Amino acid sequence: MAAIEGVGGGEKKRVVVIGGGVAGSVVAKALQEHSNVVLIDSKEYFEVPWASLRSLVEPSFAERSVINHTEYLQNARLVISPAINVTESEVLTAQGDPIAYDYLVIATGHVDTGALARSEKLSLYHAEYEKIKSSNSILIVGGGPTGVELAGEVAVDFPDKKVTLVHRGSRLLEFIGHKAGRKALEWLTSKKVEVILGQSVNLNSVSDGVYQTSGGETITADCYFNCTGKPMGSMWLKDTVLKNSLDIHGRLMVDANLRVKGHKNVFGIGDITDIPEIKQGYLAQRHATVAAKNLKLLMTGGDEQKMAVYKPGWQLAIVSLGRNEAVAQVFFVTLIGCFPGMIKSKDLFVGKTRKQLGLKSNLL
Ligand SMILES: Cc1cc2nc3c(=O)[nH]c(=O)nc-3n(C[C@H](O)[C@H](O)[C@H](O)COP(=O)(O)OP(=O)(O)OC[C@H]3O[C@@H](n4cnc5c(N)ncnc54)[C@H](O)[C@@H]3O)c2cc1C
Repeated sequence: MAAIEGVGGGEKKRVVVIGGGVAGSVVAKALQEHSNVVLIDSKEYFEVPWASLRSLVEPSFAERSVINHTEYLQNARLVISPAINVTESEVLTAQGDPIAYDYLVIATGHVDTGALARSEKLSLYHAEYEKIKSSNSILIVGGGPTGVELAGEVAVDFPDKKVTLVHRGSRLLEFIGHKAGRKALEWLTSKKVEVILGQSVNLNSVSDGVYQTSGGETITADCYFNCTGKPMGSMWLKDTVLKNSLDIHGRLMVDANLRVKGHKNVFGIGDITDIPEIKQGYLAQRHATVAAKNLKLLMTGGDEQKMAVYKPGWQLAIVSLGRNEAVAQVFFVTLIGCFPGMIKSKDLFVGKTRKQLGLKSNLL
């Protein structure tokens, strides 16, 4: 039987990508014509993560931002099951069968424990929307980007609802500068969101919609959203051949070419890496592009010295505040209002992200 040809005319190499998030989707798409790609993800779809808060207040928004992997990966094999082990030559998933690789890409940024199927995810957004609509008061726990963006969405779309945001830290948006946190606080307060800082809420001890904070305050709410952040997706690597490539924070140590330290045929990309830069999706996509380029070079027997080098990105982040406004940090400059809002808050980069995956920006 004739061998299937890869880049450069040789037999196609086996590339296994673990994690079908922002970084994994881009690298799998870029390599599907050049190698035998297997994408392993714990769910059957890619979701634009920063669009998820809008989908809670407008469930139809998720129809564009929750994308089945099959839509952009026509020439790859999909394994929908969490990866649980990796050896020098194979990946094992919870489903059982070992998957052999010549090259491996680890892109398991954050663990997603939500729905497995796209249709389930869309139904979940409808149910959450009904929950918000029928509640008079809403508690949001966590004042990072997820909690702040959700509070913004609810405050703008449902201005009559009583929203309380409780955050353990002393300021909002701790991943960027003080000024951005202060401006977000002022904006939320102006929209009548009550923000309680320096306290936590024990979500296991709720009784009849009454919540106790660590500071002894009582909050009454018809429903709550836990926005304390998803755990990093590297725990499963701790007992594998890659255990010595994790730093003390559980991040995957990579070199300038994005190869995992100590492993010539394993790449690490996205939020899971120890690259000294802000953790953002647009940078994860850049990692994916660099890794794809280097993989193509290695698969054709190219000179390792010619591999592309990744340079850490700038401090640039935009946190949306409802449909029209946002707070942005660009280096040391902080901006709030309609200008940063124009960049992110209307479409939340969904059209742009869909185009990057070779899809139409709109469904029609
Ligand atoms: C509210 C909010 C707003 C944001 N806004 C922006 C923004 O405007 N612009 C921007 O650039 N960035 C933004 N970000 C950051 C951005 O979402 C992340 O940087 C990006 O998602 C990182 O991509 P990733 O591919 O590394 O990880 P993820 O996108 O988290 O993908 C990880 C994937 O791996 C899968 N996975 C995990 N463990 C396993 C396993 N063991 N086996 C198989 N699969 C596994 C998960 O299911 C998931 O599909 C925002 C983040 C938040 C929370």
